[in-house]
Amino acid sequence: MIKRELNFEGTSPLLYLIATPIGNLDEMTPRALAVLKEADYLAAEDTRNSGKLMAHFGIDKPWISCHEHNEQEAGERIVSLLLSGKKVCYMSDAGYPTLSDPGQRLVAKCLDNGIKVSVTSGPSAAIDALACSGLDSDHFYFQGFLSPKESERANELRKLAARDETIIFYESPHRITKTLVAMAAGLGDRRAVIARELTKAHEEFIRGTLSELALEPEESLRGEMVIIVEGKAKELDAEKSDNDIASALKAELDLGHSGKEAVKNVSANLGVAKNRVYTVYVESFKK
Ligand code: SAM
Repeated sequence: MIKRELNFEGTSPLLYLIATPIGNLDEMTPRALAVLKEADYLAAEDTRNSGKLMAHFGIDKPWISCHEHNEQEAGERIVSLLLSGKKVCYMSDAGYPTLSDPGQRLVAKCLDNGIKVSVTSGPSAAIDALACSGLDSDHFYFQGFLSPKESERANELRKLAARDETIIFYESPHRITKTLVAMAAGLGDRRAVIARELTKAHEEFIRGTLSELALEPEESLRGEMVIIVEGKAKELDAEKSDNDIASALKAELDLGHSGKEAVKNVSANLGVAKNRVYTVYVESFKK
C-alpha cells in the first residue's frame, strides 16, 4: 500500500542524515547546523570524531554510537527514540552517511517503522572528484572501494571493464599503487584522475593513464583519494563505415524522426561525430 506524507508536514517522525565536511570545515552548511542544534540526540559512526566536529561548532548533545558492527541494535534504539517524539540526526565521519559508510540499514529500519528520512546536503568526495575530473560526468557508475582481496578485486574489475560510464572508486593510500596496477590490468590502460585531499590545503588532481599513475611514487600519494576512470571506449569513428551510418540513419528516418533527430540519435548510438553523420545524411538522403 502506498503511503504518502510530505517530509516537512504530517505527523510521522523524521530521521535527519547530515552530510559533513570531507576536509574543509567551512563546508558544514548553515542548514545542517540549524538542524543539529534542534536535535535531542546525535548518532554517529565514530562519536569521538563527530564529537570533535560538533565541539568546533559549539554543539553539545547526547551521543548514540551507530557503526557497521552495531547498526542493528543501535538502529532499534534510534527508531524507538524517534517514535517517542525525540529528534535524532545521524552523521558519518565525513561526507554522506550510507555512501561507502554505515547508515543504509538504519535508513531502511526507519522507513519500515513509518519514520521519514531527510538529508541536509553537503560535500561528497565522489561528486567533487567527478566534477573536476574532466571525464564524462553525464553518465557514471559509483563503485566505491574494491575488495582488498586480490582475486575478488580482479573479478570486480573484470565486470567493471564492460561498463561504458565513467567509474568512481574510493581507495586508501596504503594500497593505491597495487590498486592502480590491478586497474590497468583489469580495465586496460584508460585515462584516469586521482583526486587527492579534496577541499583541504593540499588538494591535488593527478591526471594520466592508469599505468602512468601507477608509476607515481607511492609516498607522493598520501591522504584521502578518489580515483575516477573513464568508461570503456566507444568504437572509434573509423570503425563505422558510411554504409553502417546510412543504414542507421534510414532506420531512424523510417521511424518518423526528422533529419536533425536522426543525425543526433545515430551520432549518440554509434559513437560517431555528428558532423560525419550529417555528411553521410546529406550524401545519402538529401541528393
Ligand atoms: N561517505 C563519504 C562520502 O560521502 O564521500 C565517503 C566515506 S569513505 C569511508 C572514505 C573514502 O572517501 C576515502 O578512502 C577516500 O577514498 C574518499 N574521501 C573522503 N574524503 C576525501 C577527500 N577529502 N579527498 C579525497 N577523497 C576523499
